Amino acid sequence: MHADILQDGLSGIFDSHCHYDDTAFDGDRAELLGDMLSAESPVSFLMHACTDLASAEYGIKTAGAYRNYYTSVGIHPENMENLDPEYAEKLRVLALENAKVKAVGEVGLDYHYDGYDRAAQIKLFERQLELAAELGLPVIMHVRDATEDHLAIMREHKPKGVVHCFSGSAETAEQLLDMGLYIGFTGVLTFKNAKKAKRAFAVVPADRLLFETDCPYMAPEPFRGKRCNSSMIAKIARAAETLSGVPAQQLIDITNENARRLFDI
Ligand SMILES: [Zn+2]
Repeated sequence: MHADILQDGLSGIFDSHCHYDDTAFDGDRAELLGDMLSAESPVSFLMHACTDLASAEYGIKTAGAYRNYYTSVGIHPENMENLDPEYAEKLRVLALENAKVKAVGEVGLDYHYDGYDRAAQIKLFERQLELAAELGLPVIMHVRDATEDHLAIMREHKPKGVVHCFSGSAETAEQLLDMGLYIGFTGVLTFKNAKKAKRAFAVVPADRLLFETDCPYMAPEPFRGKRCNSSMIAKIARAAETLSGVPAQQLIDITNENARRLFDI
């Protein structure tokens, strides 16, 4: 077993948001993924969070190589520059031709940096929400510092899906839950100063909860700052157990079930 894979006594992890196409995995990607999805691994399922057209090709190719590896297709708002004008049609064809494409994502709004045109982000997001509706797929959403616009778009489009790496307030979480959406939590839940994430976690019912790494980023404590991988979800589950009183293994089982229901796996 790859030395980075954490054996914490828990099993059946579904990582609902990972980026194994990141260059951080260039040195040992095949070895890591092979071991991660082997029978002895604590990890059972991976969902590739696609960020651009090259990332969609990667996700589909990798999903073909590993039975329990699934993929989304979509353009992340940070990748709007030099966007292929045919992107929507290309994503549509990829989704229709590949049964392991189970979501449109990661798509959304990121107002954290000033460099990205907000109107253009909204246009890109809405076009992909239309695509998801057309394909009958859920949406994996990235939302940062854009709560008002995001909520307005959710009211209009009413997609099914998940808001990943949730960074909003408990009140915002409640509004998204009312609209039937799932909420994804990362290693942030293990950080001592993550009061906002913990308050939001408290309002999410078990049947709408997803765990995710967003790896290679967001490693949970005690691995904060290191390269993250999907087995570290064990530490997120342990933190969630402390917050909720529900045993970590039970939370992993519930989030596994939730992800398979949302992504139709
Ligand atoms: Zn991501």
